[in-house]
Amino acid sequence: MTTFLGMPAGGGNLTGEPFPKAAREALGNAQLRRNLAKATSTIRAKRANVVGELPDWAQLRAAGAAIKDEVLADLDEHLVRFEEALTSRGTRVHWARDAEEANRIVCDLVRATGTREVIKVKSMATVEIGVNEALAGIGVHAVETDLAELIVQLGDDRSSHILVPAIHRNRAEIREVFRRGMPGVDPGLTDDPRALAEAARKHLRQKFMTVDVAISGANFAVAETGSLVVVESEGNGRMCLTLPRTLISVVGIEKLVPSWRDLEVFLQLLPRSSTGERMNPYTSVWTGPTEGQTSHVVLVDNGRTATLADPDGRAALRCIRCSACLNSCPVYERTGGHAYGSTYPGPIGAVLSPQLTGVDRNPTLPFASSLCGVCYDVCPVAIDIPSMLVHLRERVVSAKRTTPESTAMRALAWAMSDARRWRRLLGLGRFGRVASRHVPLPGWSTARDLPEPPKETFRDWWGSR
Ligand code: SF4
Repeated sequence: MTTFLGMPAGGGNLTGEPFPKAAREALGNAQLRRNLAKATSTIRAKRANVVGELPDWAQLRAAGAAIKDEVLADLDEHLVRFEEALTSRGTRVHWARDAEEANRIVCDLVRATGTREVIKVKSMATVEIGVNEALAGIGVHAVETDLAELIVQLGDDRSSHILVPAIHRNRAEIREVFRRGMPGVDPGLTDDPRALAEAARKHLRQKFMTVDVAISGANFAVAETGSLVVVESEGNGRMCLTLPRTLISVVGIEKLVPSWRDLEVFLQLLPRSSTGERMNPYTSVWTGPTEGQTSHVVLVDNGRTATLADPDGRAALRCIRCSACLNSCPVYERTGGHAYGSTYPGPIGAVLSPQLTGVDRNPTLPFASSLCGVCYDVCPVAIDIPSMLVHLRERVVSAKRTTPESTAMRALAWAMSDARRWRRLLGLGRFGRVASRHVPLPGWSTARDLPEPPKETFRDWWGSR
């Protein structure tokens, strides 16, 4: 076995078109904006209600942040503890440095079972590494069992939200997706939510009863006991985790919590911040395989160690994927998730994706924000996303050796270092500003008007007194 020393960069589905280009396209879609505004405002209001009920919300939030920071400070030790606990209960642990290695491990495990189909519990980590595409490459079809993920899959679409991947679709659009993509569906299917859910239930039930390999992620992983936790709303997760004879769980290394007791904090923070519920409907916890089952856990780095190495950026690894920052973000509400080009959209995506891949592969995302700060206010683990965005912007600018801005700043420094030179330049200044109103400045005057220059400069006015 080879030992990898270093900090692998993240691969898989973490990059896309530059944000300004993709956002411009999204802004042209009025139906998308209506769907997003309706869905995000509803979830926002629900969240505000249930968070407001807890007098100790601020303390819970501080506890969540502190537990995550404790894990990150000693991540190596917690991971080894977690591996030992899992191994002692009969689960095989695999380590993957990046998306490619994780996919290779999953494909080898699936190939060994001889199956042509696997069922999946909703998992951001598997979307991040692109496991469905990798399995398709070896002739295995992955069936999404979360309703929203199923809509995305049947519609040959991409997820646009962490929690509600089909948030950009309304009922009528979902009915059309089912009519076109769901085998054997009633052609007279209506867009009544109950009818849509029933159609999905029938379709999935048959998969649960016949497919023998499942792939899951995990919301939390308990280092002390080797337990994995999946939090969901439909019961599909429970079916996937218990029925198939082979269970493969793909888990990002930052998902750990030190002890069983710590879960108490997160199981209060997560449902209130995500779906606006006091408690989520299904919490599945498994510690080792169920009887007659073979279980594997693939621990994935894919840029997380590199993120951990940055003291100003590592808090992004506290994220529990609740999506409260997406639902509150004015930029996300107008552009939707596809504009971010990554599995992780919205404010958390704007700080996490560039860190996982390296800022050179995602240079526009740190600028996809107005820095209004609402993402920080609502985050249940107190990630200061606005400060992190500013830090990442600085990294993007420093990485580019010469930009129009840096050239202009150098020229200005040269001019201002000599009084006579500066006076002469001010004389030209008015001419320059008048000219610039008629000559577009790339990236600046496309969205703003330069003000009309004053007839007289301050120095002229002062000199004439
Ligand atoms: S950054 Fe905070 S608010 Fe956003 S998804 Fe993560 S935990 Fe939730």
